[in-house]
Amino acid sequence: MERRITKEELRAAVNEAYERFRNEKSGRNAHYIPYLAHIDSELFAIAVCLPDGEIIEAGDSSYRFGIESVSKVATALLVLKDYGANTIMDMIGADATGLPFNSIMALLLEKDHPSTPLVNAGAIAAVSMVRPVGDERLKWENIQHNIDELCGSHLPLIDELYKSESVSNHNNRAIAWLLKSYNRIYDEPEMSLDLYTRQCSLGVTTSQLAVFAGTIAGSGVNPVTKREVFPRQLTNKIVSMIATVGFYEKTGDWLFSTGIPAKTGVGGGILGVLPGAFGIAAFSPPIDAAGNSVRAQKAIAHIMKRLGLNVFSGDRVTIAEKQTVEC
Ligand code: GLN
Repeated sequence: MERRITKEELRAAVNEAYERFRNEKSGRNAHYIPYLAHIDSELFAIAVCLPDGEIIEAGDSSYRFGIESVSKVATALLVLKDYGANTIMDMIGADATGLPFNSIMALLLEKDHPSTPLVNAGAIAAVSMVRPVGDERLKWENIQHNIDELCGSHLPLIDELYKSESVSNHNNRAIAWLLKSYNRIYDEPEMSLDLYTRQCSLGVTTSQLAVFAGTIAGSGVNPVTKREVFPRQLTNKIVSMIATVGFYEKTGDWLFSTGIPAKTGVGGGILGVLPGAFGIAAFSPPIDAAGNSVRAQKAIAHIMKRLGLNVFSGDRVTIAEKQTVEC
């Protein structure tokens, strides 16, 4: 079925979700990274990026927070671009783990593959593959440039967050060295871990995250800058990865109940993609036990339900300027 959603309808749904959940109190800031524990839990924002580059926003959409695991999507795209989908399948994988994002068990169970670039083990492996292998400075430049292009503007490093994560990332260090023992890390482990920690510590706004989502929804063309950031044939690859593991052990429940592939980060951000239609982002620091922002998930779920949208519906969705009167 053809579905036309007007900008007014979208705006109304965003505002309604914002009003409905602005007083939501459940969840708790991530505590295992000390910097994140101290972020104001009241912060809340929603942003939708439309194919013409317009951004519909509500709340604290220009507040800069730690991108955390949403950065995994960007680096997955970078290595998909550089190596091709088959090599990524071979060297990392594209499977769901059904386990927490930082699971060592997942790696022990699937030692022939780090599973997917969208959990910690696969993300550290993906960072290790970023070119030029062996050159930390240029690798970092490429990682940052790629995220900036996806978001349409620059993401600065939050130094304090980077320091905070660097002194508390022992679990990830264990993962990096375990990858080494399985020959599934493709550059120096400590350097790969450091670059991974750095990319997680980039500061992003909810509007920038919406543009990132909009670039995926636009099959690789950034709706704001109009630049092609990745080839369109990688769209189904990255969206399938997001759909498979974006909410970690809660991914099936999320996809079943909302119908939108989305990727979360423990900083409180969520990026959601309705391919061909729009990119959506929401942010609020308190997270649930799986590490997914409580308010942000409620807001995105509400908007999808309110507009009757679902990636599995078979509908073709277009965004219209305003309602046309049929006669
Ligand atoms: N930097 C965080 C970590 O590695 C990212 C986790 C997340 O956002 N789910 O633990």
